[in-house]
Amino acid sequence: NELGGKGAALQEMSRLGIPVPPGFTVPTGVCRSVLTNGNLPAWFDGEVTDALCWLEQQQGKVFGGDRNPLLVSVRSGAAVSMPGMMDTILNIGLNDTNVYALAEHHGSLRFALDSYRRLLQMFGSVVLDVPKTAFDCLLQQLRNERGVHTDSELDEAALEQLVAGFKVVIEDHTGKPFPMDCRRQLDLAIAAVFRSWNNERARHYRRIHRLDEQAGTAVTIQAMVFGNSGDDSGTGVGFTRNPSTGEPSIFGEFLPNAQGEDIVAGTHTPVPLSQLGRTLPQLYGELQSVVARLETHYRDVQDFEFTVERGKLFLLQTRGAKRSAPAAIRTAVEMAEEGLLSKSEAILRIHPSCIHEMLSPQLDLAGLASQPIARGLAASPGSAVGQLAFTADRAVALAGKRKEHPVILVREETSADDIHGMDAAVGFVTAHGGATSHAAVVARGMGKCCITGADSLRIDEARHVLRAGRFELNEGDWVSIDGATGRIFSGQLPLKPGLSDNPWLKKLLAWSRKEIGLSVRANADTPDDAERARNFDASGIGLCRTEHMFFAPTRLPHVRAMILAEDEQARKAALESLLPMQQEDFEEIFHVMAGLPVTVRLIDPPLHEFLPSLDETRTALSEARRHDEAQVRGLEYVLARIVQLSETNPMMGHRGCRLGITYPEIIAMQTRAILRAAIRVQVEGIPVEPEIMIPLVASVEEVRFLRKVIAATAKAVFAEEQETVRYRVGTMIELPRAAVCAGEIAREVDFLSFGTNDLTQMTFGFSRDDAGKYLDQYLELEILKDDPFLTLDQEGVGALIGMAVKRAREARPGIKIGVCGEHGGDPRSIEFFHSIGVDYVSVSPARIPIAQLALAQACLKFTSESELHAFIPTTVQEEDHAVTENVNA
Ligand code: PEP
Ligand code: MG
Repeated sequence: NELGGKGAALQEMSRLGIPVPPGFTVPTGVCRSVLTNGNLPAWFDGEVTDALCWLEQQQGKVFGGDRNPLLVSVRSGAAVSMPGMMDTILNIGLNDTNVYALAEHHGSLRFALDSYRRLLQMFGSVVLDVPKTAFDCLLQQLRNERGVHTDSELDEAALEQLVAGFKVVIEDHTGKPFPMDCRRQLDLAIAAVFRSWNNERARHYRRIHRLDEQAGTAVTIQAMVFGNSGDDSGTGVGFTRNPSTGEPSIFGEFLPNAQGEDIVAGTHTPVPLSQLGRTLPQLYGELQSVVARLETHYRDVQDFEFTVERGKLFLLQTRGAKRSAPAAIRTAVEMAEEGLLSKSEAILRIHPSCIHEMLSPQLDLAGLASQPIARGLAASPGSAVGQLAFTADRAVALAGKRKEHPVILVREETSADDIHGMDAAVGFVTAHGGATSHAAVVARGMGKCCITGADSLRIDEARHVLRAGRFELNEGDWVSIDGATGRIFSGQLPLKPGLSDNPWLKKLLAWSRKEIGLSVRANADTPDDAERARNFDASGIGLCRTEHMFFAPTRLPHVRAMILAEDEQARKAALESLLPMQQEDFEEIFHVMAGLPVTVRLIDPPLHEFLPSLDETRTALSEARRHDEAQVRGLEYVLARIVQLSETNPMMGHRGCRLGITYPEIIAMQTRAILRAAIRVQVEGIPVEPEIMIPLVASVEEVRFLRKVIAATAKAVFAEEQETVRYRVGTMIELPRAAVCAGEIAREVDFLSFGTNDLTQMTFGFSRDDAGKYLDQYLELEILKDDPFLTLDQEGVGALIGMAVKRAREARPGIKIGVCGEHGGDPRSIEFFHSIGVDYVSVSPARIPIAQLALAQACLKFTSESELHAFIPTTVQEEDHAVTENVNA
């Protein structure tokens, strides 16, 4: 925290005897003091002078000296890595006089002038706020004049001209000459790095990644080593394993005769690291052994930067590598198999969103006739289909406020200034840059797909046009990109399901399931859903919403007949025709789940949801009045029923158990269908575990009433079938009153399941269907930290759940308790549910693997009682001894 990631890694490498350029680090505390008081601590100046003195002795050089001058880099580095977001300045300590001394010492005027023009360029833009383009234009103009493509082809005379030009640019923009006093350069550079903590892109990055705004950055001042000293020099970046696929071999890029910023900026196309094995084999061997040591030392894949100065290797940085989801999973599993990590550590290493990413759809290229319009490097896997945007601002505008429109950002290359556009886009393409360029690193960090170095693209960012061979595409045109192969297609290609067959993912999930036992169920309404749930090794169905079966076109007429029935007899007749259909569905589901519990929820939504809309019926009626007199009476009746059933506030209206109480014959029909199906399947020799669940109860009397209906129906079914089946009856806790009365309710049922969607709605008083209108603003104003319908509100809704669990367990020890709202699939909420002793979560089939991993992580994290107490919010913790005991048990 004090030295920042970079400073800490450098000191650690130095301690391990790995070659790093000597230097010293200004701790993050100094930055915090500058940010809060606006000035440096009194001791700061003297300490920097002492440290510089030490560095001069180490190097046998003098900072700002006229002979053999010491040059330093000034590098940012926060405790949590924010790649490319803050500033770094190289070659500090050069001026008009000592540039020639540097030339003499290195035996190359070209080298000294190249270093000087880089200093002017970086110092000018970073420290003095001169627009980067002012320097770039001059550089491009000179390259054109000299007829060369790269900076390394510029000769001494050209560089001399560039140095003079850059000095004029600085003076023109700032009104002052470039400072020749080297210590002043250093002080200004340190101040600029501190300032860069608060630049727009760094703030945006911290917002996206929820990083501490107050942490501040450290600054490392390090002796320069020169990758631009000739052909036996250069700069490189790499990974100890492939960050895109996870393949366990060193992967990276090298740029001969260049300095660090050239490679990271993505402005030069580098050569693969493996090529270094051919040109500088001894050095490559040394690099391999050094980085392997680092990986073992840190027990994680490392992302390293290095410089070679005249054949000598220096490491400049090492940090945990950002990696794609497939790479994260493969490396964690393989490192556990290699003995570098334990299985538990491997499980804890994976962010649950990786699973989501792995399972998200891929482009379906099988049998595809169309050819890609361009190819590039497969920099970050996954697929994306979206509309083209050529600038970050346009990407944000096209994506919309809630990022509801998919956008693909296409740029010559990206820089840290594009971060807001990258956040808004679903994938990126760049024409330049390699697999370690800015776009690639950010994409892997964000879990988005990315293609870099698609150099056949001709992009006109100003006119918002892209040309690829004979294709011309404009802003808003659709493209499809495949990050796994680097191919770019015109148009909207179909997508297919994600990589659920990935062998490393399967292994990781199997390890996770061992940690949690059987506690992730599925919300599955159909036999197909049940099948998918089984494929993900769900431990049962925690919520089967029966009414979803009613919406099938063959069933809706019967459902409508039931609702529109004029008397009980007519309703019973309609229910009779629905019964075999429901029964058939349940039989199929019981077959698929073979012995695993299946919780079937009785009818829940307001009845008008099954009827045609008011407008639709009015139109049909006026049509009938003109053309089909025979229909009029029927439609008038339907219209009257719709009006009669419509409610001002349907979510708080005639729904849930209230329907069952007013129409017990519906409950009887559903119970009959469930139990008959269970008996049929049981008779075939397949075990069944039916669970009947009553929705939206507020009082224990509602439960008692409906339990009686269910029991009477069961008795009748068993007599008719001459066969019995074991079944359980439970209820959902979806209303604050039910949570408060959970103790009493628990005495009447076999299980409880929290419907956190409704419980959130009813606790906040936010309508589930309409809250979108103001939630955005609530989040922006930080009135709420998270959308409470996605991540459980632990202080409010969570406190109610904690209290209900405690009361239910006190009243009925050992009662099974689950969660079947959307929050059951949200990793942060899962951690909470686990901490208060919920037995299972039930989630949509696609989220089962995420929940399995998140639950395993929660189990591994909450091993000791003290950790458990630290996690439970105070409102629950104060009186929650029973819950704690239960979790420990
Ligand atoms: C809930 O309210 O959390 C729930 C699972 O039921 P539904 O979403 O069907 O209202
Ligand atoms: Mg509900």
